[in-house]
Amino acid sequence: MTAQPPELATQGAAASARKILQRLHEVMAARSNVQAKLNKVVEIIGEELSSEVCSIYLLREGMLELFATRGLNQDAVHVTKMAMGEGLVGTIAKNVDMLNLEEAASHPDFAYRPETGEELFHSFAGVPIVRREKAIGAVCVQHVDPRAYQEVEIEALQTVAMVLSELITHAGLVDENPAEARPLETGASVLSGLQLVMGMARGHAVFHQPRITIEHTVAEDVELERARVYSAFAKMREQIDRMAGQAEFGTDGEHQEVLETYKMFAYDEGWSRRINEAIDSGLTAEAAIERVQQRTRMRMRQIDDPLLQDRMHDLEDLSNRLLRIVSGQLGTAAQSGLRQDTILIARNLGPAELLEYDRRRLKGVVLEEGSLTAHVTIVARAMGVPVLGRLKGLRLINEGDLLLLDVNQNRLFIRPSAPMDEAFEAGLALSQKRRAAYAAMRDLPAVTKDDVRVELMVNAGLRDDVAALDVTGADGIGLFRTEFQFLVSATLPQRERQQRLYKDVLDAASPRPVIFRTVDIGGDKALPYLRQDDGEQEENPAMGWRAVRLSLERDGLMKAQARALLEAAAGRTLHVMFPMISEPWEYMEARLLFEQQKDWLAGHGKKLPTAIRYGAMLEVPALAEVLDILLPELDFLSIGTNDLTQFLFAADRANPKLAERYDWLSVAILRFLDRVVRACDDHGVTVGVCGEMGGRTLEAMALLGLGVKRLSITPASIGPVKAMIRSLDLAALRAAMPDMLRGRIGNLRDPLLKWAEENGVEFN
Ligand code: PEP
Ligand code: MG
Repeated sequence: MTAQPPELATQGAAASARKILQRLHEVMAARSNVQAKLNKVVEIIGEELSSEVCSIYLLREGMLELFATRGLNQDAVHVTKMAMGEGLVGTIAKNVDMLNLEEAASHPDFAYRPETGEELFHSFAGVPIVRREKAIGAVCVQHVDPRAYQEVEIEALQTVAMVLSELITHAGLVDENPAEARPLETGASVLSGLQLVMGMARGHAVFHQPRITIEHTVAEDVELERARVYSAFAKMREQIDRMAGQAEFGTDGEHQEVLETYKMFAYDEGWSRRINEAIDSGLTAEAAIERVQQRTRMRMRQIDDPLLQDRMHDLEDLSNRLLRIVSGQLGTAAQSGLRQDTILIARNLGPAELLEYDRRRLKGVVLEEGSLTAHVTIVARAMGVPVLGRLKGLRLINEGDLLLLDVNQNRLFIRPSAPMDEAFEAGLALSQKRRAAYAAMRDLPAVTKDDVRVELMVNAGLRDDVAALDVTGADGIGLFRTEFQFLVSATLPQRERQQRLYKDVLDAASPRPVIFRTVDIGGDKALPYLRQDDGEQEENPAMGWRAVRLSLERDGLMKAQARALLEAAAGRTLHVMFPMISEPWEYMEARLLFEQQKDWLAGHGKKLPTAIRYGAMLEVPALAEVLDILLPELDFLSIGTNDLTQFLFAADRANPKLAERYDWLSVAILRFLDRVVRACDDHGVTVGVCGEMGGRTLEAMALLGLGVKRLSITPASIGPVKAMIRSLDLAALRAAMPDMLRGRIGNLRDPLLKWAEENGVEFN
């Protein structure tokens, strides 16, 4: 039997919701105590939703306690308690999702509590009371006759839940750390993603873009709230349009596609209309935005379409942006500073954004996007900050939650239980032991078992990175990314500032060599203060006006850097290399520019370097075809496998969707590198690899197998790679490589791994 549609469904939804909100507003404004208020609230909702029963459960010490009811046995109040996940109420709270059932008892999670007398009632609907995306309670209604509650009723219930969240918070009734009190039942969670920077870290969750906590839900003045939303929309649209016009919207992962979706949502009349309707029903602007977002979330959850889920993600982002604008809470967490050991959570970050954080407190980073060779990953690696990327389910995390990040095991523990914590500590001890073993190898040379010396150098870019030389015992800095100084600076660093940095780095590294790379700006390292002349946004910044292409045209920039480097290296050897050389003439011009600056300095009586070693980076595949022209002009060649592989595979290195698609041990890459190394050998030119590939043990072994004898890698990899080298019979590997390369196997990971195992090569 189906009951008559309730009065509410036949009225205008906004009008009826407004009526409920008005009545709730009166309750909240009254001077009565909180228990009296909750008692009144259940009466109002029961009446307005034509329900015999309305009950409110609140989370107390990890249990959902019946706090107020109309219709159930009053003796059950403060007596009936459900655990998270137990019964219908526990299920609602655990899943942070509503339930709407015609026949409550037929639900598998139904748990009968005799003290409540609820056997009289059939239909059941309940929604979670949410604060900071976690359930702090639930509100439910029950009906004698079996009937599904209508959507408009569920929505009314959700609006009520928002108001209750405010009431409970103000009354100090929120169980602040329920999860920590009862870790397992209250949702300790473990997530995994893509391992970007290895390592382990313990810290508290900080959102790069802080989530907004809504303080007031019921509007005092509807017109005022409408005006606030109107101007927030205008501001948001302006921001999105500005982003579209800026080159720096090329930061990792924020792609054209995302921008298009943003624009679509930002200008979506339906979205702003729904928010205005929610305001008309009596909510504040913030509550209305959140309310509409909740509703969309609910609908999307019922549709199992990954594409739509992605769009939902964008809408969440935009909705949060709107919330931040309307509540005036702008800026990132970096601006407010970190107060304790932190694991930073973000959808994605640019390298400069990451560098804004206090390095002493930033222990780890968790990204929803991210890829291995995106510059933010490289910067984090240089900072020694572990990063786990491509994580789904970050909404389970609250600001301030304790997190254990174990990238080695591909795990993020949220609000860990004691056993999780113990296991983490054991893992940490093990990794420290391993690190200690590597540290003990610090002064041992990187020599293979058959006595071939490999040059093991580190990649660096910040002043402090030089310390890694002493810690790791590396042979020098094989790639100093000079653009990092430009990225962390609000304005273009002047020549004197550059010179000071280079000199400091050379002094600290001495007598070990430092290979400076001239600025590689552009691509995913756009500088806000250095725009395209024509202001045009590039379609493909990675393949655009970047690195030496930009430097040769803006030669003022290159000249200043040349002089800074030449003067900084006065009295010693200067090693310099040029990024993104595509044709030999680019290298020749860049070298000429340096030589001219050297002559100019000599003419002005300045002290000069004792020698200059010029190198080129091989990152553009076309260069490999003209090595016979280029190599005679070079002192050394450095293969940048990060860019090289993105161009070989035509796969954007910053695109998270492609992050796991292609493998450095694909035979295509190895055959390509094989040819390059042979050409260098034929011309007697030193060849090294400075991309991230060389920092991974198996990949490094493959490179040595091809004849590479210089690797410049991230400091954390020096230990494991050195251990591999010292356990390797290189002659045997070199003898095995040609067959592997010629075999008809597309990917050499398995054969190389097998070879390594059979030949006792040490891996971490
Ligand atoms: C590379 O492309 O491999 C490289 C080392 O340069 P970057 O990662 O800075 O582009
Ligand atoms: Mg590069």
